[in-house]
Amino acid sequence: MQVYKFGGASVNSVDRIKNLGYILQNRTDNEPLMVIISAMGKTTNALEKVAEVFFSGDTDNALRLFEVIKQQHLTTAKYLLVTHYNPCYTLLSDFFTEIEWLLHDKPVREFDYYYDQIVCIGELLSTCIVSCYLNEIGVANTWLDVRDIIRTDNNFRDATVDWERTKQAVESLDFVHNNIFLTQGFIGATDDNESTTLGREGSDFTAAIFANLLNTNSLTIWKDVAGVMNADPKQFPDAELIPELSFEEVIEMAYYGAQVIHPKTIKPLQNKGIALYVKCFLDANLQGTTIRQKTVKHLPPIIVVKSEQALIELHSQDFSFVGEQPMIELYKIFSQLKIKANLLQTEAISLQICLDDRKEKIEQLALAASTLFDIQVAKNLTLLTIRHYNEAILEQLTKGKEIVLLQKTPQTVQALYR
Ligand code: ASP
Ligand code: MG
Repeated sequence: MQVYKFGGASVNSVDRIKNLGYILQNRTDNEPLMVIISAMGKTTNALEKVAEVFFSGDTDNALRLFEVIKQQHLTTAKYLLVTHYNPCYTLLSDFFTEIEWLLHDKPVREFDYYYDQIVCIGELLSTCIVSCYLNEIGVANTWLDVRDIIRTDNNFRDATVDWERTKQAVESLDFVHNNIFLTQGFIGATDDNESTTLGREGSDFTAAIFANLLNTNSLTIWKDVAGVMNADPKQFPDAELIPELSFEEVIEMAYYGAQVIHPKTIKPLQNKGIALYVKCFLDANLQGTTIRQKTVKHLPPIIVVKSEQALIELHSQDFSFVGEQPMIELYKIFSQLKIKANLLQTEAISLQICLDDRKEKIEQLALAASTLFDIQVAKNLTLLTIRHYNEAILEQLTKGKEIVLLQKTPQTVQALYR
């Protein structure tokens, strides 16, 4: 048994969906397969906009924005499907109606609830179209509403999966009579059958949940890049492919901000020793990257650059040592404000924290910490992280920059510069 996950870029046009069909037609084995698919292209962003406009009370504009999304999907279906167009149209229409009804209501609950009810439609639409297309070209598959399977709590927009109930649902899937199931990533439902989402880019995580509960040998994530690279090729044209990585390395990369795989994806795989293949849907013959439980030696320097960073300096007001009570208070503030420090350095009576520069968060933090510390904020900084660094590459990448903070371990160097 295998799990395949296709992201938004792999279904963002008629040609890309045909390409996906080609990949499935050319599978060399006939193993049972679970296929997880995201919303097409930038649909999730467009639906976020619908949710915002709806919540602001502007029904007409919300409906107008939704109409655009609707027409895009209908156009794709029209160009893609012949025999299966009518049944597909019926399925899509049901989803359209559901959202349009909701958009005619006045919001009475919290924003995150409406966000999930609206945004989840992106994956439902894309999977309906792809499923119909695959059936039309002879790749027989059964479409599932993943909300009947991935059960969650009601922490909308960042729902937590109920593994026990999800496991029961997964185990009831009949792979004997269905060789291929096709379903959505990113979304789930509560016990009251309200839709939920698992956090942006959450489809990788959904795929890992299925791999874990189905005890598969592997999970393949199909992307528009050759595999996992040692740097973002848009910033570093000579970035190279890394053919093999350990789970640990990938977790570290994600932690430092590399946009490789959704960080939550790794644990369900690591726990069951399931290999993760990152492959290129544009050329399935490329080797890609294999991630598994195995130490990989001689990795190239792995580079992550995060711009729009802020540095907050906190000074003890009365010379009390930062490491004690004030630190405990500070961590409480972090957790209340859901702040993640990208870099933290303590000295005798001061502390430096590097954060993503989000204005409201920084203001909230400054306010909350102002009773304990004197505070200074510096902005427009860039955080460079290099795993497996050497001095030469550090020098090369920081040449001519003013470094405001530098932290080194034998494995990793981080430089915050202006
Ligand atoms: N469609 C969702 C998003 O764009 C989930 C995903 O693609 O993983 O965040
Ligand atoms: Mg995506």
